Amino acid sequence: MVGLVREGEITAMTKLQQLVDRLEKEHDLTDEEFVSILESGDPDGNAYLTERAAAVREKIYDRDVYIRGLIEYTDHCRNDCRYCGIRRGNKNAERYRLSREQILECCDRGYELGFRTFVLQGGEDPYYTDEDMACIIRAVKERHPDCALTLSVGEREKDTYIKWYEAGADRYLLRHETADREHYESLHPAEMSYGHRIQCLRDLKEIGYQVGCGMMVGSPGQTMGHLVKDLRLIQKLQPEMVGLGPFIPHRDTEYAGCSTGSVELTLKLLSVIRLMLPQVLLPATTALGTADAKGREKGLKAGANVLMPNLSPTDVRGKYLLYDDKICTGEEAAECVRCLSLRVEKAGYRIVVSRGDHPAYTALAMSDF
Ligand code: SAH
Repeated sequence: MVGLVREGEITAMTKLQQLVDRLEKEHDLTDEEFVSILESGDPDGNAYLTERAAAVREKIYDRDVYIRGLIEYTDHCRNDCRYCGIRRGNKNAERYRLSREQILECCDRGYELGFRTFVLQGGEDPYYTDEDMACIIRAVKERHPDCALTLSVGEREKDTYIKWYEAGADRYLLRHETADREHYESLHPAEMSYGHRIQCLRDLKEIGYQVGCGMMVGSPGQTMGHLVKDLRLIQKLQPEMVGLGPFIPHRDTEYAGCSTGSVELTLKLLSVIRLMLPQVLLPATTALGTADAKGREKGLKAGANVLMPNLSPTDVRGKYLLYDDKICTGEEAAECVRCLSLRVEKAGYRIVVSRGDHPAYTALAMSDF
């Protein structure tokens, strides 16, 4: 009897191992195979997935961790995404905006701390005109020509994206949120469309940005089938970065009573994506660190290679609240970096002072500079 059970276990383990090996070699599986990896509760098989993803990450990025300084410059938003704490309809959100000077100060401070990439993230805030944003982009790049600038400011039209690219923006993060149209519609108000979100991602790629897409794990109504669609979209788009973190409810949204997305599933997805696109930049997100006190370290060990600490001024940090209980809202940027460096070292990795471009862009960036 014991012998039989053991045999069964070995077979299950071997099957999962074989799938992981094939994913590493061929960078692809069938939909059903992806689901069986994501659904597997076999601890040995799961440990093997983590191990292979970490090995691939190490082959390409060694034990280096790239850091991006996140500047949350506005929490005003014209959109009303159902899951988001800074949605237009949330009357309890304390709204703020940073001036160009404040943004530049954040960058200067970040530069001293070793950041060579800045990410401007915010709600879709029409207060900043296209030209205002172009001015900010030019000013940041003038002050710090050796740094990369990433925008994460939502959906715009192609000519705006072109203007900002020409002003010096290098990268753009726009999570697709979910690759299933119906699911997308259930998470967003009627005036937003899946088609436009995807069009934006296509435009950004075509213009020449290094692009990041991504999704929340465990968002209300999400199924395994949706996650497989996400993987297929990622394969098709071939983004330079994929941002994913667990969905975390916000008290002032209709999803207040929903549960937080699974950390385990988020980690598995990080590993699967690492094996699918070996060179991709994968952040261990703040949401992952919020859902689990060791989430970011676990993320690094599962194949992630990027961290995005907060550089926003301390007095506004507690206001940019996309979800409840967000971590690192009280600390100074320097404190944040110190704490994170220690955590990273303890996990066996090291933060590097680098723009941290996707390998396909590194040569290009060097020749530009
Ligand atoms: N306005 C920009 C930036 C959005 S905030 C844009 O549209 O791209 C960045 C990301 O936070 C979002 O893309 C979303 O995936 C994530 N997010 C928003 N609300 C969240 C929640 N409740 N839990 C987890 N992640 C959330």
